[in-house]
Amino acid sequence: MLKKILLLLSSLLLLTFTACAKTKTVKPAEETKQTKKAVNPEIEKLNKVLLSMSDRCKAAIPNGDPEEFLADLHKVLDAQKNYRSDDLSLLYLIDKKHNVGSEYVPKDLMPVKNNELWNVSRNDLSLRPEAYEALEELSRAALNDGIKLMVSSTYRSYKYQEGLFNRYVKQDGLELAERYSARPGTSQHQLGVAIDFGSITEDWGDTKMGQWVYNHAAEHGWSLSFPQGYEDVTGYMWECWHFRYIGKEACRFQKKWFGDIQQFMLEFIDEWNKQ
Ligand SMILES: [Zn+2]
Repeated sequence: MLKKILLLLSSLLLLTFTACAKTKTVKPAEETKQTKKAVNPEIEKLNKVLLSMSDRCKAAIPNGDPEEFLADLHKVLDAQKNYRSDDLSLLYLIDKKHNVGSEYVPKDLMPVKNNELWNVSRNDLSLRPEAYEALEELSRAALNDGIKLMVSSTYRSYKYQEGLFNRYVKQDGLELAERYSARPGTSQHQLGVAIDFGSITEDWGDTKMGQWVYNHAAEHGWSLSFPQGYEDVTGYMWECWHFRYIGKEACRFQKKWFGDIQQFMLEFIDEWNKQ
């Protein structure tokens, strides 16, 4: 019952938020401010990039000061300098339209084994070093709250993903398989920055562990990749168990400016870097 009320409340809030957002967008500074301050030359680029976003993304972006948006964006871009530069960006866009080659393997993958911080459900797991460290941090925080995380799937090679996808196609048919499994080369798992937690089923979301991860992941830089109700955006059904490490700044940016939807934020950053 409580859950139903909470769900109802959150959808009402979402509606209000969306309705407000629809009439306003991030406005250029020269329209809203009458100061002698020089206009930030990036505002034009920002407008251009925002215009190229999908309607649903635009609707999710709240009204706000473009200078503040740009300052937040640069915090995210600057934070990327703390990560290794000889591998893909942690904000690399990979989805049904953006892939990596069959040869791509993240550098220095670290084995993820059972230890005092977490449990694993199989013995061949590994993560990119940045994601490994972030899993340590997340797991320590969970342990502090009395929860030991269960890590069930991490890095997957192109070949492994190919086998998995083909198996699902055989089992459920191509149309259904595409809704929950990535074609080889398009999976966040191949980047070595994604984790499937727990049982990899919907009921995991209602467990103590699932609730804890849902509520605290972002504080440690982990972002829910395929939220409920966004299949048209992400290309995938809701996966309460699948989180991607993007860093704390990016999690804050996503929440503040993109309705907490990872796909919107990554599409924006991708377009920003391209222009
Ligand atoms: Zn996954």
